[in-house]
This record gives sequence, C-alpha cells and structure tokens, in this order.
Amino acid sequence: MQGGPVPYLEGLNPAQRAAVEALDGPVLMLAGAGTGKTKALTTRIAHLIHSGRCRPNEILAVTFTNKAAREMKERVGRLLGGAIEGMPWLGTFHSVCVKLLRRHAELVGLKSNFTILDTDDQIRLLKQLILAANMDEKRWPARQLAGIIDGWKNRALTPERVKGAETAAFNNRGSELYAAYQDRLRTLNAVDFGDLLLHMVTIFQTHADVLAQYQRWFRYILVDEYQDTNVAQYLWLRLLAQGHRNICCVGDDDQSIYGWRGAEVGNILRFEKDFPGAVVIRLEQNYRSTEHILAAASRLIATNEGRLGKTLWTEAKGGEKVRLIGHWDGEEEARWIGEEIEAIAAGRRPVGAVRLSDQAILVRASHQMRAFEDRFLTIGLPYRVIGGPRFYERLEIRDAMAYFRLAVSPEDDLAFERVINTPKRGLGEKAQARIQMMAREAGLSLFDAARRLVAAGEIGGKAGGQLRLFVENVARWNAEIRAASPATAASPAEDDDALIELDEGAVPPANDHSHIRLVERILEESGYVEMWQNDKTPEAPGRLENLKELVKALEQFENLQGFLEHVALIMDNDSAEGEDKVSIMTLHAAKGLEFPVVFLPGWEDGLFPSQRAMDETGQKGLEEERRLAYVGITRAEKLCTISFAGNRRVYGQWQSQLPSRFIDELPAAHVEVLTPPGLYGGGFGAAGAFGGAGSGFGGGSRMEERASRADVYNSPGWKRLQSHGAPPPRPTTVTTVDHVAFGIGARVFHKKFGYGEVMEIEGDTLVIEFDKAGAKHVKAGFVTAADAAGDVP
Ligand code: ATP
Ligand code: MG
Repeated sequence: MQGGPVPYLEGLNPAQRAAVEALDGPVLMLAGAGTGKTKALTTRIAHLIHSGRCRPNEILAVTFTNKAAREMKERVGRLLGGAIEGMPWLGTFHSVCVKLLRRHAELVGLKSNFTILDTDDQIRLLKQLILAANMDEKRWPARQLAGIIDGWKNRALTPERVKGAETAAFNNRGSELYAAYQDRLRTLNAVDFGDLLLHMVTIFQTHADVLAQYQRWFRYILVDEYQDTNVAQYLWLRLLAQGHRNICCVGDDDQSIYGWRGAEVGNILRFEKDFPGAVVIRLEQNYRSTEHILAAASRLIATNEGRLGKTLWTEAKGGEKVRLIGHWDGEEEARWIGEEIEAIAAGRRPVGAVRLSDQAILVRASHQMRAFEDRFLTIGLPYRVIGGPRFYERLEIRDAMAYFRLAVSPEDDLAFERVINTPKRGLGEKAQARIQMMAREAGLSLFDAARRLVAAGEIGGKAGGQLRLFVENVARWNAEIRAASPATAASPAEDDDALIELDEGAVPPANDHSHIRLVERILEESGYVEMWQNDKTPEAPGRLENLKELVKALEQFENLQGFLEHVALIMDNDSAEGEDKVSIMTLHAAKGLEFPVVFLPGWEDGLFPSQRAMDETGQKGLEEERRLAYVGITRAEKLCTISFAGNRRVYGQWQSQLPSRFIDELPAAHVEVLTPPGLYGGGFGAAGAFGGAGSGFGGGSRMEERASRADVYNSPGWKRLQSHGAPPPRPTTVTTVDHVAFGIGARVFHKKFGYGEVMEIEGDTLVIEFDKAGAKHVKAGFVTAADAAGDVP
C-alpha cells in the first residue's frame, strides 16, 4: 500500500492537512464543532496505514461511543478504498481496556473470563455490603455509595489511595466499603465499568514490563473527544504515549459535557505541558451547519465564561433560521414534532425532502423519550432509540441476560440470585438462605452450593425437584457453550509475538448460529418464556416481543460470550442500522454526530438546564448545561428546531414550566418563532411570534439583539396558550403558608426580588412574575402578601 497517490488528502483544508501530515510527535487539534476534527483524525489513520508507517494493529485509536468507533472504522476503510482489517485497537476506552485486561487479569487477581457488572448488579452488591456493615440502607443508600466509588475510580484511586478528607465520605465508612466491594468483585471474578480503566492503570503502574511492552507496541495513539477524558483515562493514555510520543488528541473545550462523570476539561489545556513541543492546530471553518445555526450556537456558548473562545465561520450562507416553538404540554410537543418530521420527509418544508434517518430528536433526559416513542408508535413513524441502555434495561431483558450469564459462567452469583426464583420455583427466602449459607461455609459459588444441596437431597419437596431441574439445566447449557468454544480463557500474552497471535485470533470464525438456538432453548427450558405467556398483564405481550428482539440481536455475534460483553459495554442500542428511521437519543449520546434535521425538545428551566444545575451555587453546572445546548444545536446541518412545553407531567403530577433561560441567549436575528397550529384560533398570523405584532420577539426595540423567554412568557400568545381549554387542569388551589393565603394573581413581596404576581402554584412553590426580576420559582414561605408589606397594588 506504500507510496502511490493519496486522494484522501485532496479534500482537506491546509490546517487539516497539517494535522494529518504531522505524523511524528505529539499533536493537539483544538477546534470548534463541525470543523472536521474527526475527519482529520480519521484521515490521519488512513495516512499512517497508507504510508506504511505502521501496521494497522499498532495503532491505538480511542473514541467515546461505540457508534463513533464503528463510523471511524468505516471511514478509514472508505478512505483507503476497501474494508480495513486488523484494527483491533480502534474502539472506546472501555472496549480497548476489556481486551487488555483479559490478557493481564491475573495481575489484579482476576481470571481472564471475568464478568462485567452493570449498574443494577453493582447496586445490589453494594446494598449487601452496606447491610453487612450494619448501616441503615435507607439513610445510606447504595446508589450514593456507587456514585462515590465511581468518582474515585474515575480519578484512578484504588481503595488504598483514598486519603484525607475523602475518607469521611459515606459516614466515614466509604473507603472501607470500597475496599470490601473490590474484594467481593474479585471473589466473584467480576469488574464494574470503572474497574476496566482502573485495573489497567494499576497494572501499568505496578508492572513496568507490561507497560513497556505496550509502549513499544502502540506506535501511534489517537484520541477523539479528548475534552471528555477523566483522570483515569488521561493517566492511561499518558503512560502509553510515553513510548513513541506519537499521540494526537482532538477536542473542543466547548463540548466538554461529562464533568458530572469526572471528565476534566483541564486535560486538554494541559496537553502542551505533558507533551512539550506539541504541534497545536486550530481549525475555524465549519463544514457542517448553515450560517443561522452556527450563529445561534456561537452566541449561546459565548455566555460561558470559562472558555478558550474561538472563531467559527461557514461558507453555507443563509439557509433556515433556528426555529423556536412553545407547546401546551409534552404530548402536544411530541405530536407536533411527529407531524413536522413527516412534513419534512415529504418535502413540505423549505429544506427539501429529508429522509427519516437524516432527522434526529435530541433530548436532555431520557425520560423525555417516552412521549415520542408512544406518539410515533401510534402514528406508525419508524424510529430508533440510540444511546442509553434503554432496551437492555427492561426487566425481561435483564432477566434473560442473567440466564445467559449463568449459562456462560455458572459461578456468576448475581445472575444466580436474579433468576433462581424467576419464574417462581417455590425457592423462597428460606431455601435461598440455605444456599447462601452453604456457599459461605464451603467457599463455593451459589451455583455449586445449590448443586451440592441437590446432590445431598437436602432440599426436599417440590422446591427440591425444581432446584434440581434448574441446576441440571444450567450445567447442561454451560457444557454446550464450553463444547462450542473450548479456548475462551486464553493464556495471557507474554511478549509482542503473543500479542500478534492474539490479534489474529480475533478474526471471527464462521458463524454457525448454534448460540442462537441455545439461547432460544434457555428461554424455553428455564420456563421464562412460559411465565410471560401465562401472564395476563397488559405488558406481557410487549415483553415477549422484546425477548424475541433480544434473540434477534444475538445474530450479529459469533457466540454468547461476545454478545454478553457487547451488552455490558454498549451504551447505544443502535443495531437496526440502515433502515429509514428517525433517531431519538440524548444530547450526551449525540456528541460527534451530525444530522441534516435536528429537533431539540424540552427547553424548559428545570429540565434544560436541569434543576440540579440550577440549584447549584456558582456557574459550573449551568455552564456544562450550556455546552450541552451548544452540542445540540451544532449537530444540525440544515434545520434546527427548539421547543418547549408549558406543562409536563412529572410522576403523575402536572407541573408548569418556564421556557429555558437558554432561549434568552439565542440571537433573535437567527431565530424564527413559530406558532403552534390550531391553538390560537386566527389571532396570531403567519408571522406570529409569541409577542404577536409580526415583529419577531415581543416587538420591543430592546429585542433586536436577543430572543427572550420573558417576552415569550409575557406575550399575549403565551398567556392565551396557558389559558387554552385543553388539558391539563391548571392548578387553582390556594396554598396556605404562615396564615397567608396566596391565590393565582395575588400580589406578593419577596425580599430579594421585590414585588410580583403569582402565576402558578405547584405545591409549596410559587411561580411569580416579578415586576423587575421576571419569572421565578420561589418557595411560598419566602414571600409575603404585597399589602402586608405595605404595597398598594
Ligand atoms: P464535532 O466537534 O461535532 O465532533 P468535528 O470537528 O469532529 O465536529 P467532523 O465531524 O469531522 O467535525 O466534520 C463535520 C462535517 O464536515 C462532516 O460532514 C465532514 O465530512 C465535513 N468536513 C470536514 N472537513 C471538511 C473539508 N475540508 N471539506 C469538506 N467537508 C469537510
Ligand atoms: Mg468529531
């Protein structure tokens, strides 16, 4: 492949070209959204291979999502004019680390066939440890501990390294429970997500020979979305890159959106210090979006203070303005978006016909998806949910997966616990306690303990017979799996030669689909399918459908182990590639992607920005939310529509919402406000901004620069929207606080915000339109009746 013409370089601009051609030494590409960072990175990989600098399997390339990794592989293949083989080290941090850890598991006390726990298992395990430590699980919830431990792992802190003030965490028991948890994981031969990196960092730090081996092996290292790496990932990369120092990182500080999960945007800013002499390349031309979209995004992100600041420009002048629309409630929003998507697909909007797979809905919180899923199912609009383990989180899927896990490794105690009495086998708490005790006393897995109890005939009656059947089934499934793939627990690599051998071993054998027949049998023989067939609840048919879907998903894998690993790793369930479907995903999952048409629903205070970010003191949380908004808008190529709902049902209660503060930060010149059809009668014309008068936002002169949600909220249109006859019922209760009763419309006084009028009542929270400060959510206890404060309304 060496030499020859290099057509893939032609399409690059000079800065990108420089990034591609500076093959040796450290390179940092720091640039805004859509400037072709990923394109340059991908081309660089192609160039490395084409120029013969190294073999494909000597390149380590990490990205953030499975989808991104897959796309990168395809793109490299396309650039080189054919499918690209032998890039085992192109993947997510997690997928690369799983591969490495399987080779060196024994160095951290694991076997190479360790299981990867999901959050649910993790929580159950922690709960047991909390109870064993005689702590009140209600006061000290496992979820909280899980968060603390994840935080430590993200910072590469092993239990021994948790020091100082941190030991006070979780009632002074945090680090002790963390140590107990790690021990327990080791006994279970299991890891959680955080362990994948933590263990690898530990191995590299304590085994210089292993580290040196990989430092030699990985001649070129490339990292996309570098702004979102956490400390553990950063350390891991830095250790590996010390060998050849050929590391190329690309990122955008404005798109750092994983601070809540320990990502450190500082990593990108520190690059030049870590790698002296680094070539820093900036890109400014955006190739993705039209002018209006880019202007709206740039204006919004400019509100953030802690940023490097960049200039972005595009040749795509004109185009459609960013559209803004308010709806009565979330269902209405979903209905409207569904209709818009169909109208756009049919070519009835100025952007021309855009097929469904080029349209996406990006939500802030995954619970927003439900309304769209329901609506789209009703109208038969094909969609897929990407990002977020939604499908695999469903109860029946988790149960089925536990059966599969047990079949692969019968010593998987958590899987055993999950399904031992599902379907009901008459093995209640007493029988289970018996198994637990036996396991503890004899140092056995639950499965082996159960087997021993069965053999000794110690559990009698119907339950005994059922347990025997269960144990025999699991043993048989396991034997079949082992017969099908004898050498899954390959011995770890010792040197470079072994490394190569393992890589070649990674080529999948012909898929004979025997594992599919096996899982179908597992579901039948366990009685699990029958359980749902006999179930008369309305959900049961859907659950059976999901189980079928699960078996379908297995077809893409050569064996059950591979599938289990995949499910443990994926955060995106985007298997139905290639069909024409609308994508629904979270903003976090949309990072790095692009779509001609994008819908951004739920721009409401409390949802986006999230309540948590709003409650925080300081701007950190809000700035991260704003970066997320920036990521959202910059995904759009031709048409971006932002929407909000005035009311939402949260846990069965209707709540009124204020449009997001981010709407205030959009430049009015690049935004067009739409009127929801059919809601206002004829009162609001085609030019219908909420402010009426056809002059954009509110019509006032101060509105020339910025859009304003206050104008939306105060506009006759919004008020009319609020009082429109459709459900939900508006709260009209009068809340009594401190003997002062406020009703809607009451004049009140607040020490900080001054005088205002009560617009909404939500429990003990009032939405008050303050004369000077605008609309605010305020606890009723903090306001007094205006006349009591001496006001004359
Ligand atoms: P993000 O920050 O969102 O990850 P990015 O900087 O990685 O964006 P890419 O996804 O690489 O940007 O590129 C954005 C779009 O611009 C893609 O469709 C890509 O093909 C296109 N593009 C990039 N560079 C060029 C170029 N030099 N000429 C034409 N199109 C380009
Ligand atoms: Mg990118």
